[in-house]
Order: sequence, then structure tokens, then C-alpha cells
Amino acid sequence: MSMSMSDEGYTETCVFCKLARGLVRADIVYQDDRVIAFKDIHPQAPVHVLVIPRQHITALWETDESHTPLLGHILLTCNRVAQDTGIQQSGYRVVVNSGPEAGQSVDHLHFHVLGGRRMQWPPG
Ligand code: 5GP
Ligand code: ZN
Repeated sequence: MSMSMSDEGYTETCVFCKLARGLVRADIVYQDDRVIAFKDIHPQAPVHVLVIPRQHITALWETDESHTPLLGHILLTCNRVAQDTGIQQSGYRVVVNSGPEAGQSVDHLHFHVLGGRRMQWPPG
């Protein structure tokens, strides 16, 4: 089978790559040609959405200057999700866990958008 542009970076074992291709069910709240936003399966707040690039990137530590437009688009998508889910004005938190000590458990870059309750600081 030949590879197309959309196959770039796809890993067969990655759950978020599968999700982005419709091979794993997800409650999608927004998607376009570069990103997909869906409800976290174990929500930690009334609103808990994950925003991921369709392209497989392991983590934030793997990004460089070439990812600047994509990373900007992901952050703007986080804000769009906050607006669409009604937490933009009350306040929301964007979290990116990068690497083991941060608690990253899925090795495909994802931005958590959390809101709908008062957040604690510092995070645990
Ligand atoms: P991390 O701990 O890596 O920062 O966050 C991974 C997040 O992905 C967790 O909050 C976890 O609940 C969520 N998650 C893991 N697998 C799935 C899945 O198959 N579907 C959805 N919607 N969320 C998932
Ligand atoms: Zn992936």
C-alpha cells in the first residue's frame, strides 16, 4: 500500500494516531486538517478535552522550530475549545505533560484543556 501525505508520522501502535484516523472511538468536539480535539476518557474536571496534532509527535520535548505554526494552531484550538465549551470567561487551564516525571502516559503530543471548576496551584 502506498503512503500518502496523511500517513506521515502514523504509528500503528499509537492510540491517538488510531483515534485521529477513526479507528478508535472518540467524542470529538473540533477537528480540521491539522488537529483533533476530543473529550478525555477519564475527565479530571467538568470540561476535559485533549487537543492533538494529527501528525505523530511523541511529546513536546520532540518539537523544534519547524513545529512553530502547528504549536500555535494547537494553542489557538485550545482557546476555541474553551470558548465552545463555555469555560473561556470563567477560566481554564492548558496542561502539557512532557516525559515520565511529568506523568505523560500517552506518547503522542496532547494538550489538556481543563475547566468548569476552580483549579489548585501548584499542580500535584
Ligand atoms: P497524559 O497523562 O499523557 O498527560 O494524558 C493522557 C490522557 O489521555 C489521560 O488523561 C487519559 O485519560 C487520556 N486517554 C488515554 N487513552 C484514551 C483514549 O483512548 N481515549 C480518550 N478519549 N482519552 C484517552
Ligand atoms: Zn501517534
